[in-house]
Amino acid sequence: MYKKPAILLIYTGGTIGMVKDFSTGALKAFNFDQLLERIPELNLLDCSIATYSFDTPIDSSDMNPEHWVSMVSIIEENYDRYDGFVILHGSDTMSYSASALSFMLQNLQKPVVLTGSQLPIGDLRTDAKENLITAIQVATFQVNSVPLFQEVCLYFEYKLYRGNRTTKVSAELFNAFTSPNVPHLAESGVHFKINEALLLKHDPTKKLAVYKQMDTRVMILKLFPGINQSMFESILKIPHLKGLILETYGSGNAPTEKWFLSCLHQAMDQGLKVVNVTQCSGGSVNMGQYETSTEMKEIGVISGMDITTEAAITKLMFLLGQQVDAADFKAQFERPICGEMG
Ligand code: ASP
Repeated sequence: MYKKPAILLIYTGGTIGMVKDFSTGALKAFNFDQLLERIPELNLLDCSIATYSFDTPIDSSDMNPEHWVSMVSIIEENYDRYDGFVILHGSDTMSYSASALSFMLQNLQKPVVLTGSQLPIGDLRTDAKENLITAIQVATFQVNSVPLFQEVCLYFEYKLYRGNRTTKVSAELFNAFTSPNVPHLAESGVHFKINEALLLKHDPTKKLAVYKQMDTRVMILKLFPGINQSMFESILKIPHLKGLILETYGSGNAPTEKWFLSCLHQAMDQGLKVVNVTQCSGGSVNMGQYETSTEMKEIGVISGMDITTEAAITKLMFLLGQQVDAADFKAQFERPICGEMG
């Protein structure tokens, strides 16, 4: 017998549910119940929707790993009761959260779809309604009663993306996200176009595994022409620093100056994990292609390949949190966990 899919809608905050504070003119989060009242169309969807709201909804600029733990805990506690999960989230850090959740929720066999909007739900020209309604619809898709999407996705402006491949590229356009190195998973037009070959599938005999340890003793450093030794050293000497994402040029290139490589080598000898990620919005790190990356390869810098910075920093937190064996760390980082690289 047909059973309507059941969706859990989790509200964390973000513009989608914000209103203007008339005294200051600034946008701030408001009550989730009012959000649902504003979209009566939700009642027309062929699914049942239950809701869960953060006690204090946040602007996603306040997002942190503790919130990620709250999100995965809500999903873990409700996993058997629902067929899919939709998370309403501010767009500013949505790609970080989507990436983090993809590592924290393994063997996921149900969709977790993050969405938000550029304009608040009450705005006449809002993009919130389309994003929310279609994100819920996507989360209901099933084939022979099995969810079609079995991964953490991000839905925004007619496109469904693999969450850990996305990055926010516009503070202005409704089309705010892109997935530079992997095509979108689906597109909503008059019909849905689904890129079936790209979808992740998991072994149905494996149970959901939820990981809640994220090590935040990490840092991102973007190289720029003019960076000097004392700046670089002061970053590498941050007390208790365990991991560094180095945003390099082009295909993973960096200065060949002696101080740069010797500081890096020394920090790595003392246990710092360094990941080479490109500053380019598309393409891959390929250490050894140019002389300017050959030595980094020789001293054992980890290749981030075509990973985004958002996925790299959250994967670093995740692997450090799992206390992966030092000898195995590089190999583990360079191996894809859930479609985030390669
Ligand atoms: N500042 C907001 C946030 O990320 C922007 C948005 O929701 O799009 O929470």
